[in-house]
Amino acid sequence: MSGPRLRVFVGSLSHETNSFSPIPTSLRAFEADILHRQGDARTLSQALTFPAYGDAVELGEARGHEVVAGLCAWTQPSGPLPRPVYERLRSELLEGIAAARPDLIVLVLHGAMMAEGYDDCEGDILAQVRDLVGADMPVGAVLDLHGNVTAQMIDSATVLIGCKQYPHTDYRDRVGELYDLLERTRRDEIAPRTVYRRGPVVGPIGTTEGPMQTFVEGLFGHEGRDGVLSVSMMHGFPWSDSTHTGSASLVVHDGSQPDLADATADEMVRGFAEVSSGTAAGRMRGVEDVLAEADQQLANDRPIVIADGADNPGGGAACDSTFILRALIERGQTDAALGMIWDPQAALIAADAGVGAHIPLRIGGKIGPMSGLPVDAEVEVIAVREDGLQRGLTGKLSEPLGLAVAVRIGGIDVIINSIRQQVFSPECFTAMGIDLSEKRVVVVKSTQHFQAAFAPMAAAMIYCNAPGSLNMDLSTLPYRNLILPA
Ligand SMILES: [Zn+2]
Repeated sequence: MSGPRLRVFVGSLSHETNSFSPIPTSLRAFEADILHRQGDARTLSQALTFPAYGDAVELGEARGHEVVAGLCAWTQPSGPLPRPVYERLRSELLEGIAAARPDLIVLVLHGAMMAEGYDDCEGDILAQVRDLVGADMPVGAVLDLHGNVTAQMIDSATVLIGCKQYPHTDYRDRVGELYDLLERTRRDEIAPRTVYRRGPVVGPIGTTEGPMQTFVEGLFGHEGRDGVLSVSMMHGFPWSDSTHTGSASLVVHDGSQPDLADATADEMVRGFAEVSSGTAAGRMRGVEDVLAEADQQLANDRPIVIADGADNPGGGAACDSTFILRALIERGQTDAALGMIWDPQAALIAADAGVGAHIPLRIGGKIGPMSGLPVDAEVEVIAVREDGLQRGLTGKLSEPLGLAVAVRIGGIDVIINSIRQQVFSPECFTAMGIDLSEKRVVVVKSTQHFQAAFAPMAAAMIYCNAPGSLNMDLSTLPYRNLILPA
């Protein structure tokens, strides 16, 4: 582009809100995870590790643009934000945009953020940004496919693009596409418009295998022809309880063939509904059923990995539920490992007792009724560590476990730690000296993100629908706002 250097604002205010989570979402929680304020050199390098945000900054600089690295705020999924916390972060974002006076705006939002008094934070953020910068400014956002889309979001943004993959490995590509479309809009080459269609309310479905993988591959086929600029299939986030909760297709097009854009949006929702209804049943099996299946697979020389998705903190659960641990103990299970239970107090007691100690320990079940009751057990402390790390979504050994202990209860090794975090990789266990190749059953608190790193060592991976705030049987949850599509 000739003329003055393009000035680009990149900002993020991102949270996956679980209406049923007992964990509050405080400013302290953002500070403990990621909170970069515009112009603060001390927090910038951490913010640049945040997917899509860091990618957008890097991309803009590589193109020779003047990039303003605005607010970047993210914290682990949890309950709705208190009104003052949300309004303060939103103000910081808006003030940053006003000060930057950009030519285009790239935002990294989630799509399932809720706050006290705001059931559609992304719609509110985008509408306020639009009010601030006027109708002509290209404003776009990249979203987590677990977001719930609203008309206010669509009407306020120039372009919205959801990630297509779960695990979310494609943020860099998606934010690149968003950047391109906003830049072309700025140059008056295109005037994007968006159609969307609401779809069914579904639980999380991975895109790395089966019919959903094929469906996602098909999405790319619509892009770049018939005036279609971008398509996204938002899976929605059913634990964010609002009137707009559910899946949705988004088709961004150039206006040349609006009927085709409509037809594409319809076709995507139909295809998604079909594929998701076929996949959901495999995710509904309870604890006893899943442990019985693990028993039948004992001939394997590699462990069966069981996913306790209902207690995945990556979806807002407490991460201290005891339903599967209790069942393993009652069955007298041997050669088992389970991680990670978020219980800083128990971790501290076991750490202070020291490796080799035999102590009575009360484990988990402390955050709320959806965690079940604590387990009281005689344990042997087998490892204590404060510098353990696991691999995150990027594959880098970057995620600290905090103060972590491994305790042995009969034939079950349990990891208890002080940073609430899902299991992404086997290092949660191996960093604590546990050899997973010697285990027959490994239980991980994660829904889907564990898959990539555990697949090579697992004989099988089974989804367990234990009780918990991310239980897949949505009829068990105390919804107040959700509207099921007719
Ligand atoms: Zn997600």
